[in-house]
Formats: sequence, structure tokens, C-alpha cells
Amino acid sequence: MNGLIEALANGGTLVVAEGYMWEIERRGYLQLGNYLPEVVLDHPEVIKQLHEEFAHAGSDVIEAFTYYAHREMLKLRGREEDLEKLNRTALKMAREVADRHGKLMAGNVSNTPLYEPDDPKTHEVIYAMFKEQVQWAVEEGADFIIGETFGAYGEAEIALRAIKDWGKGLPAVITIAAYVPERTTDDVPLPEACKKLQDAGAAVVGLNCSRGPETLMPLIREVKKLCTVPIAALPVAYRTNAEEKTFFALRDPKSGKRVYPDNLDCVRCSREDARKFAEEARAAGVQYIGLCCGNAPNLTRELAEVYRKEPPASRFRSRMELSMVFGDKAKEYGAEMSTTAKWMTGDGL
Ligand SMILES: [Zn+2]
Repeated sequence: MNGLIEALANGGTLVVAEGYMWEIERRGYLQLGNYLPEVVLDHPEVIKQLHEEFAHAGSDVIEAFTYYAHREMLKLRGREEDLEKLNRTALKMAREVADRHGKLMAGNVSNTPLYEPDDPKTHEVIYAMFKEQVQWAVEEGADFIIGETFGAYGEAEIALRAIKDWGKGLPAVITIAAYVPERTTDDVPLPEACKKLQDAGAAVVGLNCSRGPETLMPLIREVKKLCTVPIAALPVAYRTNAEEKTFFALRDPKSGKRVYPDNLDCVRCSREDARKFAEEARAAGVQYIGLCCGNAPNLTRELAEVYRKEPPASRFRSRMELSMVFGDKAKEYGAEMSTTAKWMTGDGL
């Protein structure tokens, strides 16, 4: 497979599975609140398996799980000595799975808690943290590097600069997190922030995380109007809406209580939601599509199908006509099967 630039040339598209942190948490190997990706070292097989599943579901990119694996996080949790090993292990696993399936492998740097717009010292510290992660990604054979989930334009710009300075020419994909106000936390309107990142040399710009499809897409259309490079759209897979624009704000429709982070399941996007998002994104000219938090292989398969990727997992798309109870064959069985169908649904009783 060619690199990112070639893949996106002439209107080409990439499906990119993100959202590892939440899916790994759901599987029981990561703690919300803590967010330390120690699973990479403690249970590497869990990460490898999820890479495999996303590849099977049609992701064109295997993203190394180095989200929050920056020096500050490891230091905070008393595992700073594991920093390099954790990053390299995550990158190696992603490379291995990507090679096996002919996919691209992406390194990753992400938001930190350190950024202060008016304090250049914090910018230097963050730059140094990104620099080392970028260097490891280059050495472990990444095809491109993602800088993601930045609330502040300034921190996104530092990530881009670190990738440009130390990425040995690897392209940068920079995505900003859209919160409730439609500007970065350092007050740049989101479409303009994307345009500035494009002008500073990002190969792909866009928005990821925080907002679900319904509240992200209007912003993506604005980004698309302003930018000429390929646009990335990777919402969370949760049903955000006009009143609750981010997944942090979502409430349980039953209890009215806030659901972030433990009870998000009750507002998770269905496969149909994912498909509808992919159709809208495709119509809007989004070339780099995926889902972030809340993503799972079954949702990625929907995106991949809409984007004509023919994922191996499509072989297992539902075919209810094969069902012994509800399908064509049911008619050839006795009355018991039709009674069972009625009893199961309550229809026609
Ligand atoms: Zn996310």
C-alpha cells in the first residue's frame, strides 16, 4: 500500500478506526479517570486483537495505541521508566498487524494537561514530549503521524511543529476536539484553526472526539468550505444533539442523569447511526473518516461499506432470510416455528 498522501490523492479515501481507549476499557483492561494505557505492556494481546478486528472490519489504518502515552501521564502514574518501552511496544504491534493486512500504520500524539497559552515554558515542555514520541514513531516505521484531540489551537500547532521537525518527512494528520463553543479553548474558530494547521503544513486537518455525528457534521461542512487539503471527521459514537452537543454533556433519556463516562452505553450510536454518518460525510466530501470514543468493529464496518472498502467482515452481514425462525425456511417447518416467531415478537398474537 502507498502512503497517506497517495491514498488520498485524486479523491481517495481512508477509513481510520480510533477509539481504542474506550473499547479497551469496555473489555476490562483500562481505567476511566486514570486513562493510563498500561495495557500495552501488561496485556499486549488485547491491543493486538483489537487491531486485528478493526482491520477485519475495514479500517485502512492501524493506529498505534499511544494515546495519553506521553511523559507527563507516565510520570503522573509513577511509570515514567516505562515510557519508551510502552510507546515502542504499541508502535511495533500496530506495524505488525498493519503489515499482515496491507494497511497503513499511524503513530500518535495527543493532548496534554500542561498547555498554557501565555506560558512559553509549557510550550517547550510539550514540544519535547511530542518530539520523543514522534522520533519513536519514525524509528518503528510509522507511515504517518496523527496529532489528535487538542482543545487548544496552540497545542495542536506544537504537535504539528514537532511532527514537521522530527517526523523525517512523514505526513501529519491533525484533528481538534470540538467542545460546546465552536472555537478552540484559545479562541480560534474551529474552521479557521483547521485552515491555519493546513497552511502550516498538515496533510489532513479536521475534528475528532468530543462531539457525536449529529453535532460534528455541521462543523465539518464549515471546515470543508475553508480548507483545500483532505478533511478528517472522527466523531464519538454517541448520540449527541442540539441540547447536549458533546458526549460529556449527554444524559440518560430514562433517568435524565449525566452518563459520562460510565453509562454512555444508553446513548451509543447504532449501526444505522454509523451508516447515516458515513453517508453524510461521504456526501460532504470527507476523505478521512472514522469514529473515536465508542467505536467498535461493528460500527467501523458500516463506515467501510459506505466508503466501498469491501471489508472481510461484510461476509457476516446479517441475512435474516437464513433464520430458522424468521427466514424463508421457517415456512417449510411446522406450525410451531410460526407460533414461536409470533411469541417472540408479540406480533399477530
Ligand atoms: Zn475520542
